[in-house]
Amino acid sequence: MTYPRTHAAGRRAGTTPSRDGGRPAGGVRPQVPPRRGPGGRRVLAALLVLGLLASVLPWWLDTPAGSLRTTAATLTAAGRITGLVAGYLLLVQVLMMSRLPLLERWIGGEQIARWHRDLGATLLVAVLAHAALILVGYADLEDKPILTEAGVLLRDHEDMVSAFAAAGVLVLIGFTSVRAIRRVLPYELWHALHLASYLALLLGFGHQFSNGAQLFRPGPVRTLWIAMYVVVVAALVWGRVVAPLAFNLRHRLRVADVVAESPDTISIYLTGDRLGELDLLGGQFFRWRFLTRGCWWQSHPFSVSAAANDRWLRLTVKVVGAYTRDLRDLDPGTPVWAEGPSGTFTAAHRTGDRALLIAGGSGITPIRAVLEELPPGSALIYRARTPADVLLHRELDWLAQARDVRIWYVIGSRNDPGPRQVLTPDGLRGLVPDVVRRDVYLCGPPGLVAQSLAVLRQAGVPRRQVHLATFEL
Ligand SMILES: Cc1cc2nc3c(=O)[nH]c(=O)nc-3n(C[C@H](O)[C@H](O)[C@H](O)COP(=O)(O)OP(=O)(O)OC[C@H]3O[C@@H](n4cnc5c(N)ncnc54)[C@H](O)[C@@H]3O)c2cc1C
Repeated sequence: MTYPRTHAAGRRAGTTPSRDGGRPAGGVRPQVPPRRGPGGRRVLAALLVLGLLASVLPWWLDTPAGSLRTTAATLTAAGRITGLVAGYLLLVQVLMMSRLPLLERWIGGEQIARWHRDLGATLLVAVLAHAALILVGYADLEDKPILTEAGVLLRDHEDMVSAFAAAGVLVLIGFTSVRAIRRVLPYELWHALHLASYLALLLGFGHQFSNGAQLFRPGPVRTLWIAMYVVVVAALVWGRVVAPLAFNLRHRLRVADVVAESPDTISIYLTGDRLGELDLLGGQFFRWRFLTRGCWWQSHPFSVSAAANDRWLRLTVKVVGAYTRDLRDLDPGTPVWAEGPSGTFTAAHRTGDRALLIAGGSGITPIRAVLEELPPGSALIYRARTPADVLLHRELDWLAQARDVRIWYVIGSRNDPGPRQVLTPDGLRGLVPDVVRRDVYLCGPPGLVAQSLAVLRQAGVPRRQVHLATFEL
């Protein structure tokens, strides 16, 4: 088997195939994929807003004009609206995390994660507002102190205890998602806490139907609400169980080799069955689970670092922590469980036929794969601190020739005059005069991404032409 070797020393001499100057030698040559257009995100955003309006509609239809004369009535009405909104948003949040293949390819895992984060804050506000407004409204109506009313609600209303528990779970998830707190928690702990949102869905279910003024009566509204639950649970089962099972039974991926690209970066080559049938674009990522004793319980996202072919798949991994350190010792033959592909950071999502790609550090991995599928004539700016940090350089040299790519290696610290000059509007225009008409693919450390976005804005590149891979879920 032949696949590209970019570093002279493979970790295990004898297990890797011959070097061929970085030229992928799989059986299928990468083609330029047809453009897909940005429609998906807008359609989904419109559907979500429509769903939100529809979820509040039952309250509107149920509430006669002039019925909100007292403070108590106004407060409880606001409580009911926020309750309906919270119930709907919780379903949307779980749907977004269902990993439904359609959503993962249409919207992309990273974009879904951004929406999920933003919506999470709104959901938390809606839940807290719902609880507070209903409590204060009922206390006012029955002329009782708030704490007494809370006791009455918990004691006399069916499913109220589980509703309070669901609210508690959501507050905990919201709290641990605050950036500063999330940063100090181990990823796996944060993720496990986050999975408790399924518990919130379960705990809140009964409350909505036994206490919800618009939902406890049998009728079309109640039926529709239950149908939404059924759809979300079906999406979860499909995205988390059925689709991954079908994918892994079909392709049976396993490690072919691990190759050192630099002192702290490795490439993992995988083989499997029917790789030529993979519906995969360069720049997309999978969540990988390497089935060894130490690694099987965690899945980590890594992009493919070369376009699909019918012989092998490759991911290129920078060693940053305990898990990535363990990947250096993977043995050939190790079975791999993959979920994906996901993402819209691909040549198919370009808006035109010329592109500028900006990569920093391990951000070169998806960029390298996208480059292979973009039409000829792209330009690449590759930022690295030292020449030793430049990855996959032989393959990039090959792409420069084979696909007419102009490449600038911008080496040095961010305060060195060269890198500082390049990342300015004039610097960019100097290298790529038609930058405003190009798609820009950007992947690298947060500092480089933020600086590049600011410079692209100043240079007048429209936001819809900018494609971002942030390595954040
Ligand atoms: C869509 C996407 C594509 C990526 N592609 C690549 C790639 O091609 N090459 C590459 O080197 N790196 C890539 N990464 C980053 C890579 O996933 C992390 O560096 C890796 O998971 C760190 O694991 P660790 O335990 O060794 O390090 P840690 O020190 O434990 O983690 C470092 C950081 O990585 C993130 N992280 C850790 N575990 C996970 C997880 N299970 N899921 C999601 N994020 C996690 C967290 O933000 C954490 O703070 C990608 C990330 C994402 C989200």
